[in-house]
Amino acid sequence: MKDFLKVLRRFAMPYKRYMIGAVIGNMLSAVLNVFSFMSVLPMLHMLFGMDTTAYEFQPWQWDGIKDIAINNLYYYTTVLIGRYGHQTTLLIIGIFLCLTTFLKTASYFFSSAVMVPLRTGVVRDIRIMVYSKVLHLPLAFVTDERRGDIIARMSGDVAEVETSITSSLNMLIKDPILIIFYFFTLVFVSWQLTLFTVLVMPGLIWVMGAIGRKLKAKSLYAQNKWSETMSQLDEMLGGLRIIKAFIAEDKMLDRFSRVNNEFRDASNRVAIRQASAHPVSEFLGTCIIVLVLWFGGTLIFSNKAPIDAPTFIFYMVILYSVINPLKDLSKTSYQIPKGLASMERIDKILNTENPIKEPLKPHALAPSQPNESIVFRNVHFSYSNNSLEVIHGVDLTVPKGKTIALVGQSGSGKSTLVDLLPRYHDVTDGQILIDGIDIREFRIHDLRSLIGNVNQEAILFNDTFFNNIAFGVENATMEQVVEAAKIANAHEFIMQSEQGYDTYVGDRGCRLSGGQRQRISIARAILKNPPILILDEATSALDTESERLVQEALERLMKSRTTIAIAHRLSTIKNADEICVLHEGRIVERGTHEQLIQQGGYYKHLNDMQQL
Ligand code: ADP
Ligand code: MG
Repeated sequence: MKDFLKVLRRFAMPYKRYMIGAVIGNMLSAVLNVFSFMSVLPMLHMLFGMDTTAYEFQPWQWDGIKDIAINNLYYYTTVLIGRYGHQTTLLIIGIFLCLTTFLKTASYFFSSAVMVPLRTGVVRDIRIMVYSKVLHLPLAFVTDERRGDIIARMSGDVAEVETSITSSLNMLIKDPILIIFYFFTLVFVSWQLTLFTVLVMPGLIWVMGAIGRKLKAKSLYAQNKWSETMSQLDEMLGGLRIIKAFIAEDKMLDRFSRVNNEFRDASNRVAIRQASAHPVSEFLGTCIIVLVLWFGGTLIFSNKAPIDAPTFIFYMVILYSVINPLKDLSKTSYQIPKGLASMERIDKILNTENPIKEPLKPHALAPSQPNESIVFRNVHFSYSNNSLEVIHGVDLTVPKGKTIALVGQSGSGKSTLVDLLPRYHDVTDGQILIDGIDIREFRIHDLRSLIGNVNQEAILFNDTFFNNIAFGVENATMEQVVEAAKIANAHEFIMQSEQGYDTYVGDRGCRLSGGQRQRISIARAILKNPPILILDEATSALDTESERLVQEALERLMKSRTTIAIAHRLSTIKNADEICVLHEGRIVERGTHEQLIQQGGYYKHLNDMQQL
């Protein structure tokens, strides 16, 4: 319950006024309900025709209000009967019943309708929060295995929170109000019977609580299995080409079936436990009614009854009405734990601490920076606290306008090293400085707007050429985009496509070749026009022909920019101002191409191998 209130405080607060509306609507509907049932009382009285007393009007007063109320009700009925006859009176009372019922259902409708915006609002807020959180977490948080999991939490768990928590909220507002109103009515009509009822009620509540227990753990397990299902789906969609190539369809299907079966078993356990709640409460509710009926009946037979038969029936009707909200309320006791289990999973993302922090007092950053240089000073890095260090103390200076190349075996830490500059990760030790200022002192937005990236995998969005090129720039004009595309050697093939710059590139640019994709991403970098450029194996995935086109484009891009280029093929970085050879997270050789060849070390070895 405490956890539930916490969730409410976090998410439902902006929607307070809807809740207040619901409280008012529910109160009205409860009062009107009691009134509408009350009108049945004189009806029964007349129909049974057992009343021959002549009623006198009694002046209203608080003392003995109950008897006065009943008396006057009967009095007015007899007046009506005297004036219009039995039939018409019955009709008048019937119309009164219809009227109060109409008002009751109207306010009931109002109270549920007013909760709809709250429910949808909370769900929308949570989705946007998760999306925004993942968007801002460091790159390493979203590894491939987590992708499906994040999708599952975003869809399944948020939906679960919606169905269980917010609809429980509906009941949590409605039911206590109804119960309190009905309970007072019960006491008012007959405290003796009510005392008896109260004695048997706790049994029902205890049994319902027992059903709710353990449900949270079971749901948590089921939702985890759902995550696995989504992860596998994601993996399958991404790896379809390989799966087909290795004829691994059956194997994948097996794996998917296994986790799906586990999910099914877990869902079975949750749903069956849940399904038992309704019949159990129905049965216990009827038992209570029967007990009270028996007790009340005995009292009436004994002639010392505190109430007459029609009042007793009225009492039973109200008692029956109180059982329903009680049942609903017990339903929340197993729905809420389910929702809380999902909330816990969503919170795993929301509460992830973002280690990339904005500086408290950010340094202003001129767009022309760096004026002097970028300096890596004794940089150490490991991906997480308990994993091995990947970068072991790198010192590197990139002077303004120069090109520094990084070469080395795959896995030597080249990509990791350059990812530290835009702060996709933060150094674990040492510093990276731009013009002598630690990059952690700049606003992340400012820092990243200095840097342009071209990576091995060109990442395009399912959008037009125009929008893909203009991605990082607000209000780019067609001329600017065309200009950038021309420099990037992309203009020609774009114009050859059906709708020119308005052609869609397909999901992740699947309708383009690798070289074309790469030239689009270069055009994107050209348009952004950043002073610092990071090229991470930008040409490695290309054939020689497109490599030449891309290389040309890159060289135009690198002109007058401060560049760090990672290259697999040494031919592409021969002209760099300095070449650093990275080996197992350390710079082991540095110099120009000629110097390194003369040195006859690791670089020469690499070079010789590529000459073959
Ligand atoms: P390179 O770009 O030189 O091929 P990387 O910088 O990609 O090498 O990787 C360097 C090392 O860091 C490798 O040993 C790799 O296993 C490890 N590594 C890369 N990415 C991650 C990650 N997200 N989490 C943990 N370790 C990683
Ligand atoms: Mg790499």
